[in-house]
Amino acid sequence: MRKMRVLEKTIVLVLLSMLLTSAWAQDLMERLRERMVKTQIENRGIEDPAVLAAMRKVERHRFVPASYVSRAYDDHPLPIGEGQTISQPYIVALMTEVLNLERSDKVLEIGTGSGYQAAILGELCDSVYTIEIVEVLGNRAADLLDELGYENVKVKIGDGYKGWAEHAPFDAIIVTCSPTQVPQPLRDQLAEGGRMAIPVGESDAQELVLLTKRMGKLRRDLIIPVRFVPMVDSTGATY
Ligand code: SAH
Repeated sequence: MRKMRVLEKTIVLVLLSMLLTSAWAQDLMERLRERMVKTQIENRGIEDPAVLAAMRKVERHRFVPASYVSRAYDDHPLPIGEGQTISQPYIVALMTEVLNLERSDKVLEIGTGSGYQAAILGELCDSVYTIEIVEVLGNRAADLLDELGYENVKVKIGDGYKGWAEHAPFDAIIVTCSPTQVPQPLRDQLAEGGRMAIPVGESDAQELVLLTKRMGKLRRDLIIPVRFVPMVDSTGATY
C-alpha cells in the first residue's frame, strides 16, 4: 500500500514536470507573459523599451513555487516561502523604470527573494549585486540565476541594511523590503548622480520613493503608496 503511494506520487510528479517543460506549457506561459506585459505594465504607463523587453523575456513562472506556476503572471504578489513574497509584476517594472538604468550601471538590490527582480536587472545592466537575509531563499535564488545563466548577478546572504561596501559606490540601488527610514549605509554607497528606489514607512503606510544623489545631497520624489515586507535584521527585528 505504502509502496503504491510512493510510486503513484512519483509518477504524478514526473508527469507534472513533463507537462511543465512541454512545448505546449512553454507556449502557454509565453502567451500569459505577453498578456501580463500588455495589460498590467504597458497599459499602466511603463514605456522604457528595455524594461518592457526584460519583462517579456524573463520567465516569471520559473521564480515562483510549483504550486503557484499557474498564477505566476497574475496581477499581484505571490508567496515564495519563509513568509516572503515575489512583488507584483507592475511594481517590479515601475521600480526598474524609475531607476533609469544604463547598461554600464552597477546596481545593488536589497531583498533577493525569488531572484526575479535580480534577473530583470541582470537583463539590463552589466553588474548586479543582490543581498538576501534568509539563507534558504538566497541560496535558492542563486542556484536558479546560475542555472538561467545570469553570470552578471552576484548573490550574497547577509543583512542588506549595511549595503555591500566592497562593491560601492552603486549607480542604482533598489530596495524590495521596507525599512522605516532610509538606511545610512545605503545613502553612503550611492554614487554621485545615482538613483535609489526604496519603500519607506510603517508597515501599513509605506511610500515608494526615488532618491537621487546630487552634490552629495539626496533629492526625494514620491512615486506611489506601496506595501512591502519589512526590512529585518539578523534577529528578525524590523528596521
Ligand atoms: N525582490 C524579490 C522580492 C523580495 S521580498 C523578488 O523579486 O522576488 C523581500 C525580501 O527581502 C525577502 O526575501 C526578505 O527576506 C528580504 N529581506 C528582509 N530584510 C532584509 C535585509 N535586512 N537584508 C536583505 N534582505 C532582506
